[in-house]
Formats: sequence, C-alpha cells, structure tokens
Amino acid sequence: DKMLLDIQGLSVRYTTEDGIVRAVEDLQLKLAPGESLGFVGETGAGKTTTALSIMGLISEPPGKITDGKIIFQGKDLLKASEEEMRSVRGGKIAMIFQDPMTSLNPVITVDEQIAEMVLLHNDVSKKEALKIAVEMLEVVGIRSERAHEYPHQFSGGMKQRVVIAIALACNPALLIADEPTTALDVTIQAQVLELMKDLKRKFNTALIMITHDLGVVADICEKVAIMYAGSVVEYAEKRPLYTEPLHPYTVGLFNSIPDVDDDEEFLKVIPGLTPDPTNLPSGCPFHPRCTHAMERCRTERPRWTEARPGHFVACFLHQKD
Ligand code: SF4
Repeated sequence: DKMLLDIQGLSVRYTTEDGIVRAVEDLQLKLAPGESLGFVGETGAGKTTTALSIMGLISEPPGKITDGKIIFQGKDLLKASEEEMRSVRGGKIAMIFQDPMTSLNPVITVDEQIAEMVLLHNDVSKKEALKIAVEMLEVVGIRSERAHEYPHQFSGGMKQRVVIAIALACNPALLIADEPTTALDVTIQAQVLELMKDLKRKFNTALIMITHDLGVVADICEKVAIMYAGSVVEYAEKRPLYTEPLHPYTVGLFNSIPDVDDDEEFLKVIPGLTPDPTNLPSGCPFHPRCTHAMERCRTERPRWTEARPGHFVACFLHQKD
C-alpha cells in the first residue's frame, strides 16, 4: 500500500521556563492518498505540534524535532531544505487554522490573496491566477462580485470559506484543518463542515481534521487517531474505533460524551488530570488515570501493536508479550 504520509517515531520538545515540554513522543501515523483522518485529543495532547511539524513550522528554538521521520510522497520532510519546504507548504500541503485571520492579510483583497498563492506555486500569468481565484471563491460559495472585497468585509464563516479557497487553490495532496470551525457559531460550523466534506470529495484531497469533537470526526472522517500525552494511543477505521474502542483512554472519551436524549445523564469525565507535559508519568503516560493499570504500566511503555487487522493500539491489555 502506497502511503501519502507516514510518520514514524516523531518526537518534538520545547524548552520553556518550566522545563522541557515533551509535546510529541514517539508518534506513529499513516495516511493514504485521498483519505480523511480525524486527529482527536484534549488540548495540549500534541495535535497542533504534529501538524506544525508536518508543515515544517516548528521554530527552533524553543522547539526541536528530536527524533523520527515524516515521509510525505516518499520523501522525508525532516531532511528537506527550507526552500523545498516553502514549495511544499501551501502547494502540496495546505493548512487551515482555527482563526481565519491568522491566514488572511487584512490589507489585500481576497482575490489578490488567492492569486498570490496560485502564482507562488504555479507557472501562470497574473491574469490567469486572478481567474482561478474567482473560480475558487465560487467553489466555496462566494459570489464573484465580492472577489475584490477585503477580509473585514466578510463574516467569520465567510472568512473561513476564503481561507479554504486559498488552501485548495493549489490543489494540495494533503489538507490539514486545525479545529477549523471552533471559532464559528454552531449553524455556521455545520455549513463550513458540509462545504469541507463536499470539497474533499470533489478534489480528492487527503484530510487531517484536528479536533476534540468526536461528532465532527464521525461526520467527516474515514480513519481516526486518538492522541494522548504526545502520542497516538489508538488508530483504526472509524467504525471499529467507535464500536469497539480498545484503549482505556478512548473508552473513557466515549463515556464522557453526554447523552443528549437524557437530561439525567451527567458528563462522565475521565478521572484525574491531563498529565503535565514537563513531567510526563513513567511507563504508560495514561497509568495514573487508568482503571486497568497493572504493575508494568508504571515502568514500561506499551508498544505500538496491531491488535486486529488495521486496528493499532499502545496498551498492555492488547500487547501479546
Ligand atoms: Fe492502562 Fe496499562 Fe493500558 Fe496504559 S498500558 S492504558 S495504564 S492498561
């Protein structure tokens, strides 16, 4: 099987006043061309750091990639030059951030901004680039009459549509969306997600959807990776992961979703706190919160194991030795 993206043993640290933060620790992740992956975990689990590592945007210092490989289309991005990374970013891999204004320039009209991205990665004239810009705006549901407007003239949801148009303008092989709808209100969220789903189908772009919302993942993604304390603890197709989760943390995540049909049902929060990333627990990082913890969980780190075909987990309950 030919993978679009294959992350092997990625580790990323940050040096902070409080100590060394192990933001990502021995992370494994695979994605096939055109596939959509939900990347789920609590705040601080290392989802965004992973995305920034793929984009070559970890600034050193304070960040440092200390180990691993990020193989994209057969090449290790961690060995690519800054010049090569510049052509990958926005070209073959595009990213959408939570706050659309992070990606928009307030003093340039939206058609010019899309055209700039097209010109940066393609051999076309300015005129052709502007034509593509208007087409892309129409694809995301913005009428051509509004192409010459500035970002502040658009609502939050419309701004995020512009960002999506910029991201897709170069027809990337991989789109990374980091909580793209969190800043929007609920009805607009649903519209933007619906749009992303349509576009994913239309452009056959592989998608990594970073979120803490299992509902969003259920709606959009084929595969799911559950992240805890800097590593992926479980990875599988959506159905087996939702119906038969294997890792105690994943089981806890599903139990913590309130039952919308039952007012009496209270949120069953996973007991204990998210670990301090400057001082991760020894052994399995989940052991202080795990109801199944055994003696070895305190000292040994569980291996990444294919417990069932295509269903991977890092937990001694599912490791054969
Ligand atoms: Fe729990 Fe041990 Fe599995 Fe970690 S390895 S999740 S502590 S049972």
